[in-house]
Amino acid sequence: MSYAIIDIQGFIINKKHFFTKELAILKNDRIAHFIFKQPFQFKHLPEEYKKPVMWLIHNHHCIKWETGFVQPWKLKSILTTLTNDIEKIYVKGGEKAKIIGKYIRPSKIIEFPEHPALIPDEPDCMFHEINKCYCSLKNVKFLQKTFQHVIDNPAQLDMDYSDEESIVL
Ligand SMILES: [Zn+2]
Repeated sequence: MSYAIIDIQGFIINKKHFFTKELAILKNDRIAHFIFKQPFQFKHLPEEYKKPVMWLIHNHHCIKWETGFVQPWKLKSILTTLTNDIEKIYVKGGEKAKIIGKYIRPSKIIEFPEHPALIPDEPDCMFHEINKCYCSLKNVKFLQKTFQHVIDNPAQLDMDYSDEESIVL
């Protein structure tokens, strides 16, 4: 069965909107990767969102607000076009699944087990400011390797993953 693994990272920019900064789609062992342009200048971000955005820039994915070259409005067509022929789309984390579910039919989306978690590591793309961070390009490769047993045998998704020791890598 055809599948894709998607990872996104970005910023919450108002009550209703998550702005995707980095997107990676792994499909047929090949990866499409995008960094999106800022939706507007940082100074126009509502005051209460500036601090969490800065925290992500310094401590989490470490991609600057201004970094990027793909127009943000292209996100929907990129996601729908590249996953059109895919039956199962794997995502790590409920929030990410929800965000992607706005663009892709939610019935196609499958969440990976909670454990093991994604870990900060040396990024595989050149858009991160520090050497230990979360990189979507790295994340999709990590997820494929870590959860190959789940992809090969979807029944494992019904297993109890609350005990990390029980995971067979
Ligand atoms: Zn990256």
